[in-house]
Amino acid sequence: MPLTAVQQTRLREDLQGLIKGDVQCDEVTQQLYATDASILQVRPVCIVTPRNTDDVTAIVQYAAEEKIPLYPRGAGTSLTGESLGEGIILVFSRYMRRILKTSDNTVTIQPGLLRRRLNGIIGQSQNRLFGPLAGNVSSTSLGSILARNGAGIHYLRYGLPSDHIVALTVVLANGDVLKLDRNALIKPLQGEGSVVLAQEIAYGKEYVYAGKIARLLNNRTGEQLIESANQLSVNRAGYAEHAVLQGKSGQYVDLVPLFAGSEGTLGITVEATLKTVSPPQRKSGVALFFKSIFNALEAAAAVLPLHPVLCELIDRRRLTMICDWDTRYRPIIPADAEAALLVELDAGTLEAPKTAEECRNNLLHLIDLIQTKKQLAFHALRVNTESDFQLFDQVIRRSELVLGRMHSSIQSVPLFDDIAVPIDAMQDTVSDLLALLQQHRVTASLSGHVGQGHIRVHPLLDLSQSDAISTLRQLAEDVYTTVLQRGGTISSEWGAGLLKPQFLPQQFPQLMPLYQSIKETFDPQYLFNPGRVIPTGEHWTAYLRHGLKKRGQPPPNPAGESQSRLAKLKSNFLPNQVEIQLRWEPSQVFEPAYQCNGCGECLRFDRQSRICPLCRGSATIEYAPRSKADLLRGVLENDIELESLTGERAKEIADTCFHCRMCDIECPAKIDTSLLAYRSKAAYVAAHGLPLTDLLASRLDNILDWMQPGNLLFNAVMRNRIARWLLEKAFHIPQRRKISALVYRSYLNRIRWSPLRHRLSSEQTDKTRVALFVDTFANYFDPQLAELAVQILEHNGFSVHVPPRQRSSGRSSFAVGHANRAERLARHNTAVLSELVRQGYKVVTLEPYSASCLTKDYRHAVGSEDSELLAENVTDFCSFLLQHHRSGKLVRDFQPLLYRVGYHAPCSALAMSASLTTDVMPVEKLLRLVPGLGVQRVERGCCGMSGLWGFQRKNYRQSLHIGIPLFRVLRPPDIDFGVSDCMSCCSQMSHGSRKSAFHPIRLLALAYGFISALR
Ligand SMILES: Cc1cc2nc3c(=O)[nH]c(=O)nc-3n(C[C@H](O)[C@H](O)[C@H](O)COP(=O)(O)OP(=O)(O)OC[C@H]3O[C@@H](n4cnc5c(N)ncnc54)[C@H](O)[C@@H]3O)c2cc1C
Ligand code: SF4
Ligand code: SF4
Repeated sequence: MPLTAVQQTRLREDLQGLIKGDVQCDEVTQQLYATDASILQVRPVCIVTPRNTDDVTAIVQYAAEEKIPLYPRGAGTSLTGESLGEGIILVFSRYMRRILKTSDNTVTIQPGLLRRRLNGIIGQSQNRLFGPLAGNVSSTSLGSILARNGAGIHYLRYGLPSDHIVALTVVLANGDVLKLDRNALIKPLQGEGSVVLAQEIAYGKEYVYAGKIARLLNNRTGEQLIESANQLSVNRAGYAEHAVLQGKSGQYVDLVPLFAGSEGTLGITVEATLKTVSPPQRKSGVALFFKSIFNALEAAAAVLPLHPVLCELIDRRRLTMICDWDTRYRPIIPADAEAALLVELDAGTLEAPKTAEECRNNLLHLIDLIQTKKQLAFHALRVNTESDFQLFDQVIRRSELVLGRMHSSIQSVPLFDDIAVPIDAMQDTVSDLLALLQQHRVTASLSGHVGQGHIRVHPLLDLSQSDAISTLRQLAEDVYTTVLQRGGTISSEWGAGLLKPQFLPQQFPQLMPLYQSIKETFDPQYLFNPGRVIPTGEHWTAYLRHGLKKRGQPPPNPAGESQSRLAKLKSNFLPNQVEIQLRWEPSQVFEPAYQCNGCGECLRFDRQSRICPLCRGSATIEYAPRSKADLLRGVLENDIELESLTGERAKEIADTCFHCRMCDIECPAKIDTSLLAYRSKAAYVAAHGLPLTDLLASRLDNILDWMQPGNLLFNAVMRNRIARWLLEKAFHIPQRRKISALVYRSYLNRIRWSPLRHRLSSEQTDKTRVALFVDTFANYFDPQLAELAVQILEHNGFSVHVPPRQRSSGRSSFAVGHANRAERLARHNTAVLSELVRQGYKVVTLEPYSASCLTKDYRHAVGSEDSELLAENVTDFCSFLLQHHRSGKLVRDFQPLLYRVGYHAPCSALAMSASLTTDVMPVEKLLRLVPGLGVQRVERGCCGMSGLWGFQRKNYRQSLHIGIPLFRVLRPPDIDFGVSDCMSCCSQMSHGSRKSAFHPIRLLALAYGFISALR
């Protein structure tokens, strides 16, 4: 329902006048909410972020008057397009995400709260958790868990989410607010007439609706009752009408099971009280490996009598990809395994643990049964320890995400990943499914929570083939028909969404009219999530993502089958003017923009992860990496105007990236979102020029070079409060931010005039040659750092050369989208350094951020053989020295250092080494070689500085706010000082914790005796 500009303005103004929350109707925001993790796309007209229940009620009443459909949304990671729609999107994850109340065994929450965050908080404060999980582990909101009521991964342990609801508050389509308390179930009077009506009016709205539903259910036909009874316990399609009437003769009405699992079609959840449980004891798990997937399915059925609490199937394709993703699994997972079954047995709870002996015996019995007696598995790996369980959990987690990493023309399509059948029909169903896949010539990956009959089939297809979508369409029909014939369900977790409602009449031939009556009882206008549960007749292919639709079409200039996927995409989409107007080639952003599958792994609002600090801090989904991909895809597909990219809203979104590159490792699809944000910023700069503060940041090295004769005077002026005040007013450098003193002459300037240092190492030397790249901080503020680096390298037998023609890495120019300068610097340094690489030099940078810039940013900015060569030969100082140690050559004549230091790993170091935040970093390993030195890793997320970002007045407060958890850990007296291999992190650490922080080079230099004290 596209609106005219006038209608949009009216809609925004009307809503803004009614609520305290935010209202956005611009096309950029519409584009960001037009997709989720499914293959579908529907553009909304307006996005509203309510602050409280009154806001929700006001929006609902307005929407009812104006007949605009409403779509509640959590994190938007549904795989069936559940939260997509043409009308108003109601986003709960920003403001309505609080914990309202906790008791010993319950918690009252708002719907936008992420399950992961809730469990982080109550886990720490009460050692409790909310158990059920049907959804993406990182970003699933509780509102959606309740709205979908899926069985999920923990079904065998905890049952359905609805089993854990104590009370629910929902807003109905007419604005009524129902408070449903399961401790006080409603007993409506039987029959109709004035007495019944009087009771309902006297007791309130809850009675009215309970009475209406009771009357509907009491009139069910025999066929309806049989159909209802025949559904699987994990069925998640349709409404759970069978669970409503309670008590011996069904005299009580419990409306909660109806709302839970209604896919947001009956009411909007605004508050819920949930049961919490104590964390389970985890003592006995096993990974069983099989030569055939059928053996694994037989084993799953055989272990059920032993009451497993988890039973997951993973096929060979995923196992192989997991081993490629994380090499720790290579020695563990047998290469010839066709399938694995991960089983965990119940070990009790904290309050009532089972004995270790009991757990051990149960597990041995299981292994004996499957491996020896039934001879189904050829290998069994017991899981006992905490670290074993971490690997166990990660392998399950990664099995869900791993297909997103495929960077080939073949893609995995989430289409039938939610079917379930009775356990004894699993083998036959899988056999049928494999035959269907073969018949349609489609390969697929299979996995699932097989302990509850759940099977996940992911077809792997080249979607650029013109017949791919019609193949999928036919396959879907055949798959769902087979599953229903086998007594299964089309959904056991995420409902029908927009993908599957047309199959519901096939599953519920008798019950569909009842479902329609239930829907109309609560929402007669079909205002909430229309198209879900009650089909509208629209086929899912009508909602296909535009990219998929266009990819299926032949390109305007067909070049035959040999045309690559990228070429096809380009010829279908790229408007030529994009390139001309943006001054960069759109094909550079094609792959990352399309590779993002919307999985939502980057939407993390908890403090445990590092990804996107600005998105986390504000819990704003629009600031997540995913949005950068959505934005550029919108431009490439002409869904939004090219000019949008150069508008203020697009700039706001791009500016939330400060290029920490944590998404490089945390995004399963390895999307280069930093590049996408840089290209968006560059588009804005191309249209509007650079703001003053960004210009200063971008040209900092130039400015410092020009200032050099007056550096000492500048330092003196900087000590003056009035001068700092003026600096803040004129150049937006916050008064309270500490600025290090400039040196009289920069390091590179001195090198340029030194007859010795810049000379190339003698041709005859048999030493390994190192070209030192000097970062901006060392060059202008701390040349001693570079000198010490040279001294340490020479002490270790390297021949060191400091190329005098090197220039600033251009990192801050990349960060502000100053493309002309960034790319000029990139080309210059690439030419200088790649020439040295050809002569046998290794390039070593003092800080990992420069190493990251020289490899990743230069690769796409220069894109030549030279930049590839350079990228392969750049290392940061500490990683380089650690490699030297590993080859047994590190000189270790260290003096003991009796300090205890807190090491903060910069994001760029983690991203460069592709390390998880839990991995031990090169700096830690290196410093632990120094006798007496205690190195404690302080992993509290980003420090908040990110180069010059925290130096800008507009970012100052936020920068310190992000760093607070880190400052807190550094403050206690047991840590003498902080250490980080990034100088801007050091500066932030000492600013926030009021303790000094040093680069590890200084500690090594002290241990080698090159300096007598730290300063
Ligand atoms: C990699 C990956 C793995 C996944 N694995 C699983 C899995 O194992 N099991 C599983 O079940 N799902 C899985 N999903 C799907 C997805 O995570 C779930 O659908 C999840 O619940 C969506 O959460 P969300 O907060 O993003 O909800 P959204 O997508 O925003 O919304 C989901 C539904 O909830 C409704 N809703 C949200 N808030 C409210 C509210 N306040 N009131 C009423 N209705 C509301 C929406 O209207 C919509 O119908 C996976 C997704 C991905 C990307
Ligand atoms: S950027 Fe990566 S993590 Fe985020 S939604 Fe896209 S693919 Fe998933
Ligand atoms: S580079 Fe950092 S700030 Fe930018 S999108 Fe990735 S995680 Fe977010």
